[in-house]
Amino acid sequence: MRQSQLFLPTLREAPSEAEAVSHQLMLRAGLIRQLAAGIYTYLPLGRRVLRKLEQIVREEMDRAGAQEVLMPAMQPAELWRQSGRYDIYGPELVRLRDRHNREFALGPTHEEVITSLVRGEVSSYRQLPLTLYQIQTKFRDEKRPRYGLLRGREFMMKDAYSFDESWEGLHRSYMEMYEAYNRIFTRCGLRYRAVEADAGSIGGEGGTHEFMALADIGEDTVAACDCCRYAANLEKAEYGRELKEASGQQPCVAELERLYTPGMKKIDELAPYLKLEAKAFIKTLIYMADGKPTAVLVRGDHEVNEIKVKNALSANVLELADHETTERVTGAPVGFAGPLGLSVPLLADDALMVMKSGIAGANETDYHYGGIRPSVHLSHAITGDFRNAAAGDKCPRCEQGRLTFYRGIEVGHVFKLGTKYSETLNAGFLNASGEERPYIMGCYGIGVSRLLSAVLEQHYDSNGIVWPDEMAPYRVHVIPVSAKDQTQRDLAVHIAARLSEAGVETLLDDREERPGVKFKDADLIGIPLRIVVGKHAAEGMVELKRRNEAVAVTVHLENAISIACEK
Ligand code: ATP
Ligand code: MG
Repeated sequence: MRQSQLFLPTLREAPSEAEAVSHQLMLRAGLIRQLAAGIYTYLPLGRRVLRKLEQIVREEMDRAGAQEVLMPAMQPAELWRQSGRYDIYGPELVRLRDRHNREFALGPTHEEVITSLVRGEVSSYRQLPLTLYQIQTKFRDEKRPRYGLLRGREFMMKDAYSFDESWEGLHRSYMEMYEAYNRIFTRCGLRYRAVEADAGSIGGEGGTHEFMALADIGEDTVAACDCCRYAANLEKAEYGRELKEASGQQPCVAELERLYTPGMKKIDELAPYLKLEAKAFIKTLIYMADGKPTAVLVRGDHEVNEIKVKNALSANVLELADHETTERVTGAPVGFAGPLGLSVPLLADDALMVMKSGIAGANETDYHYGGIRPSVHLSHAITGDFRNAAAGDKCPRCEQGRLTFYRGIEVGHVFKLGTKYSETLNAGFLNASGEERPYIMGCYGIGVSRLLSAVLEQHYDSNGIVWPDEMAPYRVHVIPVSAKDQTQRDLAVHIAARLSEAGVETLLDDREERPGVKFKDADLIGIPLRIVVGKHAAEGMVELKRRNEAVAVTVHLENAISIACEK
């Protein structure tokens, strides 16, 4: 491809609206342009990279035995009503009507459509297992679309769905996908971890893993053992229980005692005032669980894990109570809540139950209670794991290592759905004994456009993008230094033609630009191998430089061509 013909609008400066590095680079290197919030056009270079990614995904899905289909984006609301998701999906679902006033949704995911498709076609166990996938545009009216392609409202997803006869079969299908995901992310040159995840609102039983690209911009937190392979989303992360009280805790008042704590609502204010560490306190938070007030208690240095609380209560909706409710429940302003005398259900985290004594709000303005002995005063509470794992906690698996935290971008998700959709949509098959059974399903997503951004978050330097080989829009960039020098131009054209003939994707910078401009652009767009045709062109010598290396080597053009053809 001749660069003079390529629609490649590059920008010198990063537009101010782009916060994420990947977003800045995609705008600067002419990969994408925004049409509306979270909605983008892919320019030729961006489209090429996206196709590369789609191809990697497609090859690995096919290798895993999945078959490609393409389902409609427009889906009848009726189907979503049958699965029960039309109302609970909320404002993220893009809804519309046709000319006959029939309701539709633009697919944010395709469990309903695929289940109804298979329901009509697969009626015998002999037709199972079956895994189908597609690579298609999804629509989600996200509350906060941001960071370019990382959280879009219209984005590219690979979604696969497996149908099995049994849970063992599902496990095999799940592991096929799990392994395929490992191959995909490795081929993309991504640093990632597969982490245990919470089953969330999609429902279903059994396992679920998220694949997290490690990057500081990530919205998720991953807790990983520094010793073994254990890694989990913080939402779900377990930790090795400490059976003893945390060391270093100072003794507090021995008996129950009201302490005057004027205006001190936060542990960071109380702790220095009482000369105690945060872990000497009992934090009390009032939540609304499906509309019912509930108090959740954790140690002062710990954070409540709302997902664990929600799961323990089997609640659909869990949210912090507003100030008014908290005041009504505790009889005191926010900041002075404590467990004593509350008439709502109490959930106490296990770490409290090994404390000898602690301090909590007295449910009275400006007062706290010291000397609360959880084993006595909280004996009526429901106990369990209600807190986030914390950095330095013991690993729950090997019990040797300690947990370390990373930020992650969720690029993929594998999920054992079980019979959630086959039951609600009445979709099943006849087993070998002629009995009707629901399909045992799994679903498997990869945010293909998000993955593009995630790769970029890990592959750049101060001059621009450094593409991993398999994802680069072109493999080789041929640049004649002087546009006016006929020998250089001819040789560059010759090399580019030879490479193209050999099937190597090559970009030839034939623009009438100064060398500085060409090299700056070349660094920005990040093609892995550069062949520079300069002053030694007459002797057939050229410079070869890899984008991820600082030094260039001078070689004969035949060598350059054979090196470029190697990959
Ligand atoms: P998130 O927690 O980031 O909103 P999700 O749990 O809603 O993700 P899934 O429903 O599991 O995501 O979708 C499958 C995959 O699609 C995700 O792993 C992610 O890579 C991608 N994805 C989800 N939402 C978006 C989005 N708004 N923009 C781009 N990719 C997305
Ligand atoms: Mg989401």
